[in-house]
Order: sequence, then C-alpha cells, then structure tokens
Amino acid sequence: MARPRVIYEAKPGSPLEVDRELYGRLARETGRRRLVERFVVPRRSGRAWPVRAGQLFRIVAVEGPQVADLNVWSLANPRERFWASRTRQLHRAHLTSFDRLWSCLPYLRPMLTVTGDTIGYGRDEDGAGCHDLLGTRCDPYVHKLLNGEEFDRCCHSNLVRAVAPYHLTELDVHDVLNVFQVTGLTADGRYFVKPSPARAGDFIEFFAEIDVLCAISVCPHGDLSVAVWGPDAGDPLATCRPLGVEVWEPAPELLTGWVPPPPSDYGGGHGMTWEGASTAPSQALPQDAVRAAGRRGAGAPPSEASDLKERATGRRGAGAPPSEASDPEIAPAKPALERGRSPVRRRSSAARASRAATGGKRRRGR
Ligand SMILES: [Zn+2]
Repeated sequence: MARPRVIYEAKPGSPLEVDRELYGRLARETGRRRLVERFVVPRRSGRAWPVRAGQLFRIVAVEGPQVADLNVWSLANPRERFWASRTRQLHRAHLTSFDRLWSCLPYLRPMLTVTGDTIGYGRDEDGAGCHDLLGTRCDPYVHKLLNGEEFDRCCHSNLVRAVAPYHLTELDVHDVLNVFQVTGLTADGRYFVKPSPARAGDFIEFFAEIDVLCAISVCPHGDLSVAVWGPDAGDPLATCRPLGVEVWEPAPELLTGWVPPPPSDYGGGHGMTWEGASTAPSQALPQDAVRAAGRRGAGAPPSEASDLKERATGRRGAGAPPSEASDPEIAPAKPALERGRSPVRRRSSAARASRAATGGKRRRGR
C-alpha cells in the first residue's frame, strides 16, 4: 500500500516557514514588552477584543484546566476570518509554537503566529494532541439534537454574545481553534476528547500579523473531564473555570525583520472570461452569470467590504442592522431589468472599464 504523503507541501521560502529567530526572540524577550491589557473571562462566557498588528496576546489558564474556543477576524474587514480547515492542512491538526492561523479565501494569509505553548503536549499513545483543529465549537443546535434541551451557554452562543458589540452576528462566528483541548480520532475515525492538561499558569501565546478582532468562549464543558452528552452524561459545572487574556506590545526593535503579510496575490480570474474576450463555445458562459460572478467574487477588493471599526463606532447609523442586510454585496440579487442603475451594477461596469483599460489584467487595488 502507498505510504501516507503530506500533501500541502510548500517550496522553500514560503510563508509556511516562519523566521524562528524573529518569533523566538519575541517569545523570549518578555522583559522588553509592555502590558496593554489584561482581563479575566468568567466561566461559561465569552469576550472579544482587538489586537493590533505587531502585538502579542496570551490565553491563560488562570485557575487550572479549562478549554477555550478561539475565533479571529481581520479588524478592517470581518469577511476575512480564520480558516481552521486550511490551517489544519497547512500545519497540523493540533497547533503549537511557530504554527500559523490562516485566513479564508480570497485572502489566505497568516493572521496569527503561535509564539508560545507551555502545554507542549506533542502526540500521545492514542495519537491525540492539544490545541485542537479537528473539531469545532459546541453549539445549542447540536446540544438540542443530542440532549433535547435548550441551553444558551454553548461556545457558539458565547461567541455570538461576545461579538455583538462589534456589530457581528451568529453568521460571523466560524470554526474555531480549541485551545487547551486534547482530541484525536479513534481507530474507527470517531472524534474523541480527553481532559484538558492545562494547569494554573499555562498559556498559549500568539503574535498578530495583521490587525485582528479575537473572541474566545470559555467552554461550558469546562475541562472536558465530564461527559455532557450520551449515556454517561453528567454536569460539568464544577469543572468550569475562568480564563485570562493578556495583550502585550513588544519593544519596536524586537520587530526588526517583520513585515505584515499581504493578502494572496492570486489574480482572481478563476478562468472566467468577460465580454469582448475570445471564448471557445464550449467555455462560453451566459453573460448574466459572468456579471454575477464578477460582482460577488474576487473582482471585489477586500477594501470594499464593511469596516469593523465603523460598525463598532456606529458611524453607519445606529438603526442599521448589523451586517448582512445592509451590505449590497450580499443583498438578494434584483431581477435583471431592475438592476440597471444599482450600485452593484455600476461597480461591475467600473471593474469592466478598468479591465479594458489595463488590457484585461485585473488590478488588485491594494
Ligand atoms: Zn464549548
């Protein structure tokens, strides 16, 4: 039988290879950093906080073992958010120092780099590891499915409440990094957990590559030593503990050699053609579909997306619904006859004019 093969292998010099000297220095030189903020997130709750590019933050097990669910968005554009499954493929199923947390398409850049992991769990005899990317957050829908109960303190709901002040919603909450959580797959492929190995004072530390909004849920399953679902279900409340968060600013000289990563420079064409281009009949696409794809897809630079900071300060108008409904890019498409003078159509026309002016080569606009 063929040997297993790691598939997402990069050529030398790719952003998958972190500068260990730089990130090691950032982790080591704790005397040359300034505390920006420190707070405790109570058990069974959530909280969101911004971290600026070039800063570090820690999630700390302040009282002992406890699992946390982490979400990350670009502070400037919440459509760019952490992509757990691609991160799993690029690095590993359980993150540790020098691994990175990557953003979703069409951005695909490192948002965070892990600079410290006092757990250092490695792989155990069951193939399990700590800081899990195999699973996702607990949520009230699966809780209802498995237990038949209404429960409002699942990680999904804790994250929903945490990001509401930033005008984000349930639809912005995404697959997580399960911090301090030990997981693996059984011989027949079932997802399993073990009690969290974190002790008081343990932490995982991240370096922010871009301005981000982070949020954690302090999981209502506590340290995962008590089953919540299934025939052996019990009450894990006694195993639930708070978690600490610290944000640090390193001395500027520690950042020498660091450059904030740009979004992917893939051209964004996806093999599609536009009006005026020569297209073989078998490849031709209905023009309405081409226009629609250009409107929704890579043709829209990230800078056109909504700005979290604007949302947080309410500059878009206090009465406006948080996100989706007010965003023309994801508003329901109007029938073609009504679309003539809509902002969406004008943007699409401008994009075509721009492409024509540049000989068909799409400009990135960033
Ligand atoms: Zn949870």
